[in-house]
Amino acid sequence: MSAKDTIITLPNKHLRESSQKIAKIDKVVLDVIGKMKQATLDWEDSRKHELGVALAAVQIDHMQRIVIIRDNFDDKSNRNFQIFINPEITKKEGEIVEDFEGCLSIKDVYGKVPRHFKVRIKALNEKGQEVRIKAEGFLARVFQHEIDHTNGIVYIDHIKNKRDNFYHINDDGKLDPLDYDESIKKNSLLW
Ligand SMILES: [Zn+2]
Repeated sequence: MSAKDTIITLPNKHLRESSQKIAKIDKVVLDVIGKMKQATLDWEDSRKHELGVALAAVQIDHMQRIVIIRDNFDDKSNRNFQIFINPEITKKEGEIVEDFEGCLSIKDVYGKVPRHFKVRIKALNEKGQEVRIKAEGFLARVFQHEIDHTNGIVYIDHIKNKRDNFYHINDDGKLDPLDYDESIKKNSLLW
């Protein structure tokens, strides 16, 4: 089984369950982090037009509050990640902005999701040291998406009733609008 096949997708119920807080960063936790990196990069290598931006541990079916985020969103050759353990949003700031999001656990669907433009984050790094970050723009969006995963929320839950916010990625890497009633509302895999 290749690493990307460890990624769970909807309708797996675990994606809508809350993950456990990590009490101690031990070998088991570090092993999960290694598997998360492998799965994300292996997924990316199988896709033509997409970047594996980030992953939460629940997405490889480990119900622990761990998030990994790519160091550089513009440079695919940089395959390093930052690690956030027990991440929390301590403050949401700025206006609400709608922009596109995809998810490795929701196959081929993209959505326009409203998020806060700025957030403040508190977490531990893999050495157990507290880190505090002020993020804005796309990074703030990524944090909100991933921390949602640790709380059992997927991005489509924020736009459930929005008819015009769902898209599909085509073979050229462009996003085409999806028919809401057929592809989304009646799609029992998603809800
Ligand atoms: Zn996701």
